[in-house]
Amino acid sequence: MEKSGKNWVTWANTNAKNSSDISKLVDPFKSNVTAFIKALKEAGASVSVSSTRRSEKRAYLFHWSWKIYLEKAKPEDATKKAGVDIEWNHGDKAKSIAGAKEMVLGFGLAVPPNSKVAPSLTSNHISGKAIDMTITWKGTIEVARKGNPKKVKITYMPNANSNLELHKVGKSYGVIKHTSDRPHWSVTGR
Ligand SMILES: [Zn+2]
Repeated sequence: MEKSGKNWVTWANTNAKNSSDISKLVDPFKSNVTAFIKALKEAGASVSVSSTRRSEKRAYLFHWSWKIYLEKAKPEDATKKAGVDIEWNHGDKAKSIAGAKEMVLGFGLAVPPNSKVAPSLTSNHISGKAIDMTITWKGTIEVARKGNPKKVKITYMPNANSNLELHKVGKSYGVIKHTSDRPHWSVTGR
């Protein structure tokens, strides 16, 4: 067991990395996203993928360091995670919080007021069923929907959350837009 602290950030950057590789997603979402991106590119859009699969171990470290640092949980409340031999409880409250704080800062986690919720343990990214991507183009393009020969005209909007026509096309492929998280698409929209 190794106590919480910045060493765990170093550990995670080697042993619990996130991926921005589409091949790390699971089917059928993987095939659906691939088909959606292909249609977008054929229509002339640029697609930049920033995140696909999130390491379960990394998500665990994010979640509990955030909660302990912000005193939303006691160190002894943290669940165990196979393959992550971390001791959250330093046997001293201030030291336990300081260890968690090093991790929150090291991982660059958003804290209040920027984020009021702990990083999720159940994100669709963890199960390989979500993707963060930025889709850009100039003016209006015509994109093919799945199983529909008639293409749809879509005009570019800087905020992808507002582009309902784009959301509809994604949905035809089974790739659902999150309503408030700009780059996020998944199996459920969550
Ligand atoms: Zn996301």
